[in-house]
Formats: sequence, structure tokens, C-alpha cells
Amino acid sequence: MANSFASFDEIRAQLGYESESYGAFEWYCFFESEVINEMTGLPFSPQKANEGRYDRRVILTGEVRGVNACGFPRSTAPQRKSNVISHQPHHNEDHQQCKIKAKASVLIKIPVTVATEDLHDFSCTEPETTELYSYIKRLYI
Ligand SMILES: [Zn+2]
Repeated sequence: MANSFASFDEIRAQLGYESESYGAFEWYCFFESEVINEMTGLPFSPQKANEGRYDRRVILTGEVRGVNACGFPRSTAPQRKSNVISHQPHHNEDHQQCKIKAKASVLIKIPVTVATEDLHDFSCTEPETTELYSYIKRLYI
């Protein structure tokens, strides 16, 4: 039996709203295999992807409109300072799902893509007061 009623998402779409509201400055968690280095077309960390690891945080750098989203990966491994923005853990957040708990680097020289359909583990939105937030904002002015 066909469902003749429009879903909430269909109604929203007819009214001109995006059915989802992912966007810039939002952090998500991914399987390593889902985070693809834009320049190589391979996973950001091929070894961890092979191991099936699930703990890569990525911050989105633009509004999500199609099947893919762009972002920067976060890493706790040592990095050259000129290639990264150092990133402090998030504190004083009300929400439980924030996964930004350790000091790390955001690899602004290694843009990655992720599939929109893999954006299901929302962490939090980057605070407007950070250097990372300012950097991403400048990219789109
Ligand atoms: Zn957070």
C-alpha cells in the first residue's frame, strides 16, 4: 500500500527549506575509510582505514548542498606548525555529544571530502572565538 502522505522532509522541501541543515563549522565523527584526502583520492589515513578505525573528527568548511561535504581533519599526531592550526579541547559545553576532548591539530593543508550520507555522528559546532573558526570564515568571504 503506497503512502499517500508527504513526509515532514518533503513538506519542508516544498516550503523551500533544506531537508537537512548540516553546515560549516560543524564537527562530525567518521570511520577512517569515510574521510577522503581531496588531493590523493585515498583515505586521509589509509592505515587506520584498513584497521576499520572509527574516531576521525572532521570540521565542515562549507554548507552541505550535494552528495559530498568538504572539511578539515583533526589529528592528535605531531604536525609541522606551518601546516596546521593547533586546536584546544572544547570546554564548558552543555551538550553531551561533543567529542573534542584532547589537544590536537587541524590539518588546514589537507582538505578532505566526506559523503553527506555519512554525516550521522554530530559532535558540536566550533565556537566563534577560536582561530580555526576565523580561518574557515575567511575562506568564504
Ligand atoms: Zn565541542
